[in-house]
Amino acid sequence: MSNNIWVVIENAENDLTELSKEMMNKAKAIAKTLNKKLVAVVSGYNEEEICNKSIAYGADLVLNCNHKLLKDYTTLPYTKVFNEIIDKYNPYLVIFPASVNGRDLAGRLCAKKNLGLVAECSDLKLDGEDIKFIRPTFDGKLFSDIRVTTKPMFATIGHGAFSPAKYDNENKGEIIEEKVELTDADILTEILSKIPSQVKESELIFENAKIIVSGGMGLVKSKNWHLIEEFADALGASVGASKPICDLGICSSDFQVGVTGKNVSPDIYIAVGISGAIQHINGIKKSKLIIAINSDPNAPIFQIAHYGIVADLFDILPKLTEKINKEKNA
Ligand SMILES: Cc1cc2nc3c(=O)[nH]c(=O)nc-3n(C[C@H](O)[C@H](O)[C@H](O)COP(=O)(O)OP(=O)(O)OC[C@H]3O[C@@H](n4cnc5c(N)ncnc54)[C@H](O)[C@@H]3O)c2cc1C
Repeated sequence: MSNNIWVVIENAENDLTELSKEMMNKAKAIAKTLNKKLVAVVSGYNEEEICNKSIAYGADLVLNCNHKLLKDYTTLPYTKVFNEIIDKYNPYLVIFPASVNGRDLAGRLCAKKNLGLVAECSDLKLDGEDIKFIRPTFDGKLFSDIRVTTKPMFATIGHGAFSPAKYDNENKGEIIEEKVELTDADILTEILSKIPSQVKESELIFENAKIIVSGGMGLVKSKNWHLIEEFADALGASVGASKPICDLGICSSDFQVGVTGKNVSPDIYIAVGISGAIQHINGIKKSKLIIAINSDPNAPIFQIAHYGIVADLFDILPKLTEKINKEKNA
């Protein structure tokens, strides 16, 4: 059971998150090449369905850390449990999601165990038995190749770096019920209630969206943001934004696209009034089709766009929105 490849699973609505599926896909390939087992670590309370699904997504083994005090993520009990299972099983590599909780847990554990962590990797490559951790650096202008000299190796992975693992009910694996010992004394903080997010449903699916319409500084003012929302609504798309738009509070930073925001890989990415700075481009490169709308024919975004529309967005967006809505209602 030691020396294997671990993926820390997160779940949403009785399924693995898209990011967990992406990590599983990459981890499976690494495990196969290195002749190791892929272990999905499921933590929470009564997550049997997630354990079974982890096997369907490719896990050879599932470590089920089941305890009512793990129902919601809080730092201390999760750190305690992961610290213990890592000591017990001594994995080769542990991959965490670069989510809010995944970052928190990975950072805590590495500090506690004095181990190296490569954060927000965009790729993992094999070099013999060794792993090259690739991540953007210098504001996304370079990709550095980092080695971890401590074991187990730890990494966090951001969304969109890999394609998701395929679900296959025929996959076989074993679920190990881990004995979790936690008492109320291990819990210093308690979640008293959860406040549902105010964002629209179309925005919630941002990271998994098939179509994203992103707005940039070409919009100039917050009062023009409705043009992006209306266009996105017409297309059934999610909205996204460049960093300055988020910095100005015009759009929530949850929807910032780019190296310091989210990496996205939709079927169609439409960049409206976005110049195409390297930090933005690096977050959209994996989109299947990129369409850019910009009034400047020399804007760098046109260098990576599959289709470009040189136009004033204030002129063309309302027309496109109207046309799409008309077609839909016809
Ligand atoms: C450490 C660091 C990290 C960063 N991380 C990110 C990141 O994650 N994501 C990100 O996006 N940026 C990031 N940036 C910022 C990045 O460098 C750019 O400044 C930013 O992406 C530019 O945003 P923009 O394209 O919206 O604005 P601008 O560069 O100002 O571009 C506006 C575009 O709109 C066009 N335009 C103007 N008027 C119209 C009109 N009427 N119709 C059509 N087009 C019009 C212009 O021709 C121009 O191309 C980062 C920067 C640093 C230093």
